[in-house]
Amino acid sequence: MQKDDKIYIAGHRGMVGGALKRCLEKLEYTNLLTRTSKELDLRSQAAVMEFFEQEKPAYVFLAAAKVGGIMANNTYRAEFLYDNLMIETNIIHAAYINGVKKLMFLGSSCIYPKLAPQPLKEEYLLSGFLEATNEPYAIAKITGIKLCEAYRDQYGCNFISAMPTNLYGIGDNYHPQNSHVLPALIRKFHEAKENDEAFVTVWGSGTPMREFLYADDLAEACIFLMKNYSEKQFVNIGTGEDLTIKDLAEMVRSTVGFEGEIVFDASKPDGTPRKLMDVSKLNTLGWKYHTTLKEGIKLAYEDFLSKQSVENM
Ligand code: GDP
Repeated sequence: MQKDDKIYIAGHRGMVGGALKRCLEKLEYTNLLTRTSKELDLRSQAAVMEFFEQEKPAYVFLAAAKVGGIMANNTYRAEFLYDNLMIETNIIHAAYINGVKKLMFLGSSCIYPKLAPQPLKEEYLLSGFLEATNEPYAIAKITGIKLCEAYRDQYGCNFISAMPTNLYGIGDNYHPQNSHVLPALIRKFHEAKENDEAFVTVWGSGTPMREFLYADDLAEACIFLMKNYSEKQFVNIGTGEDLTIKDLAEMVRSTVGFEGEIVFDASKPDGTPRKLMDVSKLNTLGWKYHTTLKEGIKLAYEDFLSKQSVENM
C-alpha cells in the first residue's frame, strides 16, 4: 500500500472507519476515498457498482455495518441481517469486478459459537450454535468472511478478514438502549453523577466476561494487516485480556467519579458468558495493543464529555 494509492474507507463516519481515517491520515496516506451514507447507500447494488466503476479504488477497508449492543441486535433482527448482508455482498462483489488490489473485511467476535472454548481461536468458527441475541448479525458477518474466502478461492482476489473484539473509543454510540456496554456505562454513570442519583442499574448478572479494544488500536492493527498479511484465514484482533461486567462497571464508576451504588437488573439478557479472543496469531505476526483499558476509558469519557458540551450549546 503506497502513500498515494486510492484507499476507500467504507463506513468512515462510524467509530472504526473514523479511527482508520485518522490513523491513515497520520501516516500520510494522501488519497483517501470516503462517502457518507446519504451520498452512497451501500445497500444498493447499482449505486455501489457505479461508485466502484467511477472511482476504481486500489484498496478497500470494509468497516461499514449496522452495529449495536445486545438490545439493538435482538430488536432489529431483520435490519441487522439484511443491511449487513447487502453492504458486504455489494462491496465485495464490486471490488472483484473492478480489480481492487486488496480488501479487508471487518467482522466481530460474535461470529464464534456461544459456548466455544476460551480463548477463541480462529479455527472455532462454525463449530457450534451461535448466541441467540445476535445471531442475525453473526450470520451476516460469517457470510462476509466466506465471501472473501470464496472470491479468493475462485478468482484469486486478495481479500482478507479481521475479527475485532468488543470495541470502544472516539465517536462511539452512547444511546441508552442501543449502544454497547462500555459507552452505555459511561453515559449512565455520568448522568447519575450529574443528577446526584443513589445508584446506577447495570444489565444482567454482572458475571459475563468481555474483552475491550480501543478503536484507534484496532485501526493500527488493520493497517498493519493490510500491509503484512495476505492469507485466507481471518485474524482475531484484541488484547487477549478480559474482565467481568461488574469489574468493568467499577472501572467506569471510578473514572467518572460517581459515588453511588451499582445495582444489577437480572431481567436484562447476559448474552454470551465469555468472549475472549486468542490473539496469538496476531501477536506472532508482530502486532500488540498498547492502550490499556484504564487509559482508554479515560479517553472515551473525555470524548463523551466533548460531545455533551457541543450538544448543550
Ligand atoms: P455483547 O458483547 O454482544 O453481549 O454486547 P453488549 O456490549 O451490549 O453487552 C455486553 C454485556 O454487558 C451483556 O452481558 C450485557 O447484559 C451487559 N450490560 C450491562 N449493562 C449494559 C448496558 O447498559 N448496555 C449494554 N448494551 N449492555 C450492558
